[in-house]
This record gives sequence, structure tokens and C-alpha cells, in this order.
Amino acid sequence: MAKLIDGKRISAQIKEELKAKVADLKEKGITGALAVIQVGDDPASSVYVRNKKRACEYIGIDSLSYELPEKTTQEELLELIARLNQDKKVKGILVQLPVPAHIDENTIIKAISPQKDVDGFHPQSVGALTIGQKGFVSCTPAGIIQLLKRSGIEIEGKNCVVVGRSNIVGKPMALLMLRENATVTITHSKTENLKEVCRGADILIVAIGKKEFIDASYVKEGAVVIDVGIHRDENNKLSGDVKFDEVEPLCEAITPVPGGVGPMTIAMLMNNCVQAMTD
Ligand code: NDP
Repeated sequence: MAKLIDGKRISAQIKEELKAKVADLKEKGITGALAVIQVGDDPASSVYVRNKKRACEYIGIDSLSYELPEKTTQEELLELIARLNQDKKVKGILVQLPVPAHIDENTIIKAISPQKDVDGFHPQSVGALTIGQKGFVSCTPAGIIQLLKRSGIEIEGKNCVVVGRSNIVGKPMALLMLRENATVTITHSKTENLKEVCRGADILIVAIGKKEFIDASYVKEGAVVIDVGIHRDENNKLSGDVKFDEVEPLCEAITPVPGGVGPMTIAMLMNNCVQAMTD
């Protein structure tokens, strides 16, 4: 039976560490707030925003909430970001994505000061990651590194295959595994012989957004499998991009859905906020 990589436990551990760190910083007079901006009232976004604000409260960081109407113009949003960029007590700025279609996501991401880019999406943050310099790292891939390290899984020298090349998961994930000295292959929808490539992985990281796409035929015996996918069925039951029941018996270790990668994203956002307070 595979070892279950427990994201719930590890994220709770990280949040406890951050809580202690924030209390320590407060004693030294170092504080700061996270500004959370939501445009429109998409229900899924509202849940994410609420959870982020709750996490701030838990670890002791102030959060400032900006709930803007759907019809907010790009200029109005840019003005708010410019104001927050200047505000010394605001250490982190987060615009909940997606923004409404009349607003250009890339323009918004670029407007956030790289010093306050706690999502790690700004081109400067991505560039810093690419050339191995200090900067904010996208939260989900950063969380996966913590899952691997805190579960005692060796990364250095291992063959890692990342399935998916999105800007927020696949690409930064591959760069982080490279930084940890894995030998990395990035695959995507045009990859030929995907099965064969995946079967070469010691560590297989799947972020494709297709429910239970990866079955046992993609996985080498003894591999570590990380499932980033999240799918909710009509009964609210969650599943991932990996066919867990079929793949689990083959693996050395695997993340469940729910309770694997999911809880790590907010923990790492909090980690980035604390980094922003101390930089
Ligand atoms: P995107 O849709 O942005 O990217 C999907 C990637 O998968 C693309 O690069 C695409 O390739 C690739 N892909 C699609 N189909 C195939 C296929 N048949 N074979 C190989 N590659 C394929 O998704 P995200 O990266 O944003 O998210 C992926 C999943 O992770 C989703 O289920 C999402 O809900 C979840 N997620 C979970 C998070 C968490 O906190 N746990 C956070 C973020 C996402 P191509 O580029 O060629 O189109």
C-alpha cells in the first residue's frame, strides 16, 4: 500500500509555524496587511476569498477586503492597485482570478508591484524563479515542494514528469523541481507517447484538469504521484486527475483528493505574505 501524503496535516503544520512567526514579528513591531480584491460575485471566487481571509485571521495577518462590482472598469481596478502599491501598511496584494472578461488579466497581474505579488504571477516573479533568484513563487507548486520534502521524499537526481504546462501550476512546478535538482520533463496536450513518458517518472506530477485521466497504465511501480486536479461531481464529491483506486496500489506515495495538494495552496499564500512582511 502506498504512503498517503497528508496535505491537511502538512498545511496545518505550516500555518502553525507561520502563526508563531507572525506573533514574533509583531513583538518586534513588524506588521502588515494583505489586500484581497474580488471583482464580481462568482460563487467559487467568493469561497476562495473567504478562505484566504480566514487563513489571514488564523495566522494573525490583517486582511483588507475590496469587493468590487462586476461592472468595475479596468481603469478603476488599476487605480486601486496603484493606491495599494503605494500604501506602506499593505505588504501583499491579491486579485482573485478570473476577473470579468472586459478586464485584461495580464495587465492586472503586471500592475501589482513585484514586492507585493504574493500570488507569484507577475512576470518579474516568474523571471526570478527561472533564473534562480529570490522572488514570490506560485502557491500551488510551492506547496507541492513542501509536501514532498516534509514527507521525506528525495527529489535530487530523480526523473520528474510534469503533466500540464499552465502558467500557475505546470511551468512553475517544473522550474521548482529543476531548482531541487530533479531531471524534469514537461508534457502537455501535444506530447507524443504520453503514457511511455509518464512511465519513466520517479515523481509524476499531474495538473491537466481532466477527471481521473491518469490510470495505472501511466505509472511506474514505486513512483510518487502528485495529483493537482480538482473535480466536483453533482453530489459534491471531489476527485482528481488521477484514478486513485487503480494507481495507489502501484505507488510508493500518493496525494489523495481531497486532502492532498488542495490545502497547501492557502498555506503557501500565507507563507508568501509573511515573506512580504519581512523582505
Ligand atoms: P489549465 O487548463 O490551465 O492547464 C491544463 C494543462 O494540461 C495544459 O497545459 C494542457 O496542455 C494540459 N493537458 C490538457 N489535456 C491534456 C492531455 N490529454 N494530455 C496531456 N496534457 C494535457 O489547468 P491548471 O494548470 O490551471 O489546473 C489543472 C488542474 O489543477 C485543474 O483540475 C485545476 O482545478 C487544478 N488546480 C488545483 C489547485 C489546487 O490548489 N489544488 C490550484 C490550481 C489548479 P496544453 O497547454 O497543450 O493545452
